[in-house]
Amino acid sequence: MKVNFYTSQREYHEKKNEFDSAIQNIIEKGNFILGEQVSKFEKEIQEYTGAKYAIGVASGTDALIIASDILGFKDGKEVITSPFTFLASASCITRHKGKPVFVDIDEETFGIDVSKIEEKINEDTVGILPIHLFDQMAEMDKIMDLAKRYNLKVLEDAAEAFGMRWKGNGNCYSHSGTIGDFGVYSFFPTKTLGGYGDGGMIVTNDDNLARLAKSFRVHGATQKYHYDFIGYNSRLDTIQAAILSVKLKYIDEAIKKRQKIAQMYMERLADCEYIKLPIAKGDQKQVFYVFNILAEDRDGLAEYLKKNEVGYSIYYPMPLHLQKSFEYLGYKKGDFPIAERVSQKIIALPIYPEMTMEEVEFVCKTIKEFYRK
Ligand SMILES: *Cc1c(COP(=O)(O)O)cnc(C)c1O
Repeated sequence: MKVNFYTSQREYHEKKNEFDSAIQNIIEKGNFILGEQVSKFEKEIQEYTGAKYAIGVASGTDALIIASDILGFKDGKEVITSPFTFLASASCITRHKGKPVFVDIDEETFGIDVSKIEEKINEDTVGILPIHLFDQMAEMDKIMDLAKRYNLKVLEDAAEAFGMRWKGNGNCYSHSGTIGDFGVYSFFPTKTLGGYGDGGMIVTNDDNLARLAKSFRVHGATQKYHYDFIGYNSRLDTIQAAILSVKLKYIDEAIKKRQKIAQMYMERLADCEYIKLPIAKGDQKQVFYVFNILAEDRDGLAEYLKKNEVGYSIYYPMPLHLQKSFEYLGYKKGDFPIAERVSQKIIALPIYPEMTMEEVEFVCKTIKEFYRK
């Protein structure tokens, strides 16, 4: 049995008519740039997440860059973030010469260890950039408390976290992205809400930040051909917006299926002593964008999965402080031991709503076979 790590084909064929007519409708009308489907989809995202504003941009990476620019993550100012994430979470800070300051991660959640943030705050610090990584949100209560005390801006990288909710000290669940000054989502095809190409979204509850984000995505224009800022050319594509609107209709169902697959992995793999299953901390409504395990002899297991045609992925094989592109920051091996250790052991198993139970069984059987040898 061949198990893909991910495929868009099954969902497409299940709802082919809906996707085809959404795409065709736009081509027929010809309103390609910021067409009505973009504002419709933005409204749907506001309704779903509870964010006051949603601004569609070209990718999650652009969303992070634009938000960083607006929040003043630049010119030597420091922003505290995690070294165990996708490059874009930190490169957005460096885009305008801001400085990422890393702190190590929590061993169990793989998210930023909030107890290590305060000691890194100094007079140059302007922000905190938490990432809601893989399958749970960061400890936002503590982050927002620090931000308030030290007057810092918070940019939530919720690129992987669409649909995730979390309950802190408050009495209701908040959607990822809606707690800090800005939050960003990515609609990269594999993401929980993924398009058929690149796409991203900035969300905020702040009137002024929303106004700036809207202007920055059209070159900094406040009215046509009047530029108050040097902005970007970064709009959510109208065709992608139409596709994403179709997908958003079914997102709760899709999340339930992800949860069911995760549950199955948990049950089937519980007795395997060579692996560690994911642990969620706090009151989380999980989405399971990714299902990670920590595996002994990870590279051997990966090799074995490949041989048996089981897809897998390694997020992330090298923490950011050890990347060549960040050499100039002056970090060295051993600076963030937990992130370094996790990057040696982590491996992501296939998880997507259209995966069959037989496929999940096969993945589990193959993993157990490897360790029995
Ligand atoms: C996917 C991802 C991004 C970037 O999103 P794109 O839409 O691919 O540009 C940023 N941060 C994290 C944590 C991601 O997983």
